[in-house]
Amino acid sequence: MIQLWPFHGGIEPKSYKTLSNQVAIKKAGIPQFLTLPLLQHIGEPTKPVVNIADKVLKGQIIAHCENEDCSLSLSAPIHASSSGTIVAIESHAVPHPSGLNAPCIVIATDGNDEWIERFPLPNYTDIEPDIVRNYIAQAGIVGLGGAGFPSHVKLVHNNIDTLIINGAECEPYITCDDRIMQEHPADVIVGAQILLHVLGGAKNCIIAVENNKPQAYKTLSNLAQGNIAVVQVPTLYPMGGERQLIYTLTGKEVGRGKLPASIGIVVHNVETTRAIYRAIYQGRPLISRAVTVTGTGLETPQNFEILLGTPMEFILKQCNPKSNLKRLIMGGPMMGFSLPNNKMPIVKTTNCLILSDKEEVKPLQMPCIRCGACAQACPINLLPQQLYWYAKAKDLKKIQEYHLFDCIDCGCCAYVCPSHIPLISYYRYAKAEIRANEQESKKSESAKHRHEFRTFRLERIKAEKKARLQKLKSKSNASKESAIKAALERVKAKKQAIIIQHLIDNSSDSHLQ
Ligand code: SF4
Ligand code: SF4
Repeated sequence: MIQLWPFHGGIEPKSYKTLSNQVAIKKAGIPQFLTLPLLQHIGEPTKPVVNIADKVLKGQIIAHCENEDCSLSLSAPIHASSSGTIVAIESHAVPHPSGLNAPCIVIATDGNDEWIERFPLPNYTDIEPDIVRNYIAQAGIVGLGGAGFPSHVKLVHNNIDTLIINGAECEPYITCDDRIMQEHPADVIVGAQILLHVLGGAKNCIIAVENNKPQAYKTLSNLAQGNIAVVQVPTLYPMGGERQLIYTLTGKEVGRGKLPASIGIVVHNVETTRAIYRAIYQGRPLISRAVTVTGTGLETPQNFEILLGTPMEFILKQCNPKSNLKRLIMGGPMMGFSLPNNKMPIVKTTNCLILSDKEEVKPLQMPCIRCGACAQACPINLLPQQLYWYAKAKDLKKIQEYHLFDCIDCGCCAYVCPSHIPLISYYRYAKAEIRANEQESKKSESAKHRHEFRTFRLERIKAEKKARLQKLKSKSNASKESAIKAALERVKAKKQAIIIQHLIDNSSDSHLQ
């Protein structure tokens, strides 16, 4: 029994989890086309290593990290989710809050689903942790809780004491982690053992499950042994936030701007842990993921195992959508974002699709009444109303002094605000403005350097030209002077010759006389 430490703030929104957590995860099947964005994670994009008309096998790398060695970069390779032919490498609509298109590789599937040769590492305990870590990097595994941080980057630390497997799944509607823990508990436990091996010194592992998932807690507890403990944590949003979960389990706070590794802790999501198990034991790279497909707009909400790159409409059709669809969200209702259509592909960070048959009704926004409810709810202990004032006043300096970048966009403040102020929109706007300004100042700084260098180069060219001209001038002056001198010499010599001749002539005349 470990002591739990309640974190500040948090909310208890209606969960809507029973819509989808009652039935087993279903395989979604193979669509006609798979559209795989080159960037599906936090970090640097990948570059294609295939060409149009190439035949590819399931599990084959089709886009590699810029760095030859993926384990050295903040990136993750992309693999073909099924066998087929590359038919396009082009810009395509992707699920991203920016709404912008991004480069993608499109595979026309052949229906054979034929695997490339696989090389699992079941004897991983006999293998150096660094080699196992490189293998995880090559498998393209990223955080599947929605963040998409390349997992191998969180496995480099050798001063880790505690590994936490995050099975909190605190956002309303989302149930895919719950189903994985119920249906594949052994994969999660073995995945945790692999992570402990890679982390070297980690002494213990805690698998944290919110107490609204009793079945998942039970199945995992039945299998866990040794230094792996399964712990129930209270159902409170955002319990699944890394910092909130660490505090709840250990009472330790991660410092501002620091990573959990700074206090000897690493956190991985439940499905990520299973993906690591599958990579090591089955040689299976990250080519599919579990996705909760739910919402009031569907007759049969459920969880699916979906090949990455599958169009969302291919999945939604399998849930019998009602006719009057109003809104599609990727992620949960608290931290997710609306999508303009259902043509976009499922990517590594798609943990949930919510299809609603209700318009997003925005309640009338009222002025802030300084009630302080937002500060009470904020799990980071920020002052959301101050952030709101400074965002509204566009005081980007002051808002940073109030730690805007510590805000995790959890939405607790907006949820409790009696004035219905869309606080998150203000914070996102301010963050985007600050980032844009930083980029702009970086750009103008580099333009200034370019201008200074150009001026210096032009002045150097000018000075060199001047020096060359000077040299030519003095050379031509010198030759002119010597020509004049020679001419004068010649005139002088001629004059002397005339005088001498004259003297000779005169002297001859006088002899004759
Ligand atoms: S909860 Fe809303 S009204 Fe109350 S202080 Fe915060 S921003 Fe103002
Ligand atoms: S969105 Fe940001 S300010 Fe609001 S409660 Fe969450 S962390 Fe605090």
